[in-house]
Amino acid sequence: MKLDNISFPTSISQINTFEKMNNISIKLFGVDREVFPLKITAGGKERHVNLLLISDAVKRHYTLIKNMSHLMHDLTKHHDERFYCNYCLHPFSIEEGLMNHQFDCQNHVIQKVRMPTEVEKWLHCTYHHFQLPVPYSISADFECILEKVSSFQINPEISSTQSITRRVACGSAYVVVGPNGRMVRTLTFY
Ligand SMILES: [Zn+2]
Repeated sequence: MKLDNISFPTSISQINTFEKMNNISIKLFGVDREVFPLKITAGGKERHVNLLLISDAVKRHYTLIKNMSHLMHDLTKHHDERFYCNYCLHPFSIEEGLMNHQFDCQNHVIQKVRMPTEVEKWLHCTYHHFQLPVPYSISADFECILEKVSSFQINPEISSTQSITRRVACGSAYVVVGPNGRMVRTLTFY
């Protein structure tokens, strides 16, 4: 391998130079509790390697990933055979699923998707002062006729409530109010 002008510890920005000089393609992943993609070169070369960058504030070490599935097995609770997308590391149980996904995924920038946990899954707005007034609002109303219900329509196995009437919509109307608090156009009714 040629190492001209490559400094040590090698920065990620120098990997492009190393790839061109040695006619090799490199997919680089990082790790911080989870593995994530750091640099993916589009169009793999015949000579291709996946590397894992292990680093701290001072040291930087690139290690060869011989088998991505085995690496991910060690870091996740999934121990069955899985195929991982190089661009987002989403796992697939069959290779065909990976191929279909990766065909589209490679058109986007590299990313690591992490779904919210049970605790994180609810989002609440706390910055109420950033709210903007809604410029347009629509108010709608239905009018109904109360139609008598005959007693034989009641199924006692479903409900013990005895319905006497049911509401049948007979008309509706809506109004659109603009930013100035006035109707945008005359009331619409049916
Ligand atoms: Zn993907």
